[in-house]
Amino acid sequence: MTDLRLRPDLDALPSYRQGKAAPTEAADGPVFKLSSNENPYPALPSVATAIADLLSGINRYPDSSAADLSGAIAARYGVDTSNVVLGSGSVEIVSQLMRATAGPGDEVLFAWRSFEAYPMLVRAAGAESVHVPLTAEHRHDLDAMAAAITDRTRLIIVCNPNNPTGTTVSNAELVRFLDRVPSDIVVVIDEAYQHFNEQEDAPTGVELFRRYPNVAVAHTFSKAYGLAGIRVGYAIAPEPLAQAMRKVALPFGVTSLAQRAATASLEAEAELQVRVDALIAERARVLGALTAGGWRLPESQGNFIWFPLGDDTAAAAEILERHGILVRPFPGEGLRATIGEVEANDRLVAAAGELAAAGITGGLVAVAV
Ligand SMILES: *Cc1c(COP(=O)(O)O)cnc(C)c1O
Repeated sequence: MTDLRLRPDLDALPSYRQGKAAPTEAADGPVFKLSSNENPYPALPSVATAIADLLSGINRYPDSSAADLSGAIAARYGVDTSNVVLGSGSVEIVSQLMRATAGPGDEVLFAWRSFEAYPMLVRAAGAESVHVPLTAEHRHDLDAMAAAITDRTRLIIVCNPNNPTGTTVSNAELVRFLDRVPSDIVVVIDEAYQHFNEQEDAPTGVELFRRYPNVAVAHTFSKAYGLAGIRVGYAIAPEPLAQAMRKVALPFGVTSLAQRAATASLEAEAELQVRVDALIAERARVLGALTAGGWRLPESQGNFIWFPLGDDTAAAAEILERHGILVRPFPGEGLRATIGEVEANDRLVAAAGELAAAGITGGLVAVAV
């Protein structure tokens, strides 16, 4: 117990759980960390060099306007720099959006299960989360989300592809939804996994930003660009919203190294896309092998796969860990495994066979032959 006068509403706030760090060895070989949707490739040489060149200058504060990076993002998407807002990872972007739109008594609406950071960030903003359950196919239920809008709704998040299920909304579905949202409520499309989305008729957040005055897009350099450790993400947002986000942003929250690494990554985007394409091919290979092994899993458009295992989830995560695979379990619901390097993916497929051998098949949703 403490005498310190802390915010009482924080008592109900869970802390963010980081994906388990990998011990280096399991009984039968190396351990792979497939618990945080990280990109398995190390930094591109061009990006590493760009950062190295800056190291002697870290006695200086970064450019708080991040002019080079904002300009590069604006040029990449054909938007104005006034529409670009940077953050210390896109979790800070989502946090800025919440703190710019919602406070005590206000509601932030999103599908559930979705990105586990959302409820915590809503609480930290002092607002309330409204969770709309995914459909039986693990997809956003946009009709139910539209029906859940109240006069207290201030922000709606659509995570596409959805973390942790990998499912998507189509452009037609999202347009139909946006047409139903009152134009004074901000909708953010969290496209952390956009580069991995190969769905036909996939929405493009920036196109919807151009079309709707209440739509913002959140992007990150952590996943496809492989910069999770340096922390940089951004929004493309309507100007009044962008201004409000900058007011609640952490001053100097994006380091000079992060700005430079992100700018260099945009210059190397074609080279990075080759890696993304390899991960997409691995995703298809792993899902194909699992399907051949009898699993029936949702098709994923992210760099991860969702195993809807219900009550078997915690036991399954333990078995996988014993076989050298660390995943992200959501007890009672399912577990998420990231697509990693080829060796890790082979190991995941083999370990999934151990689950089936242990009688864990997810009941109705995943059937082992
Ligand atoms: C990983 C992730 C992010 C952003 O992560 P940062 O490292 O903070 O940029 C945002 N949204 C979703 C859905 C994610 O999975």
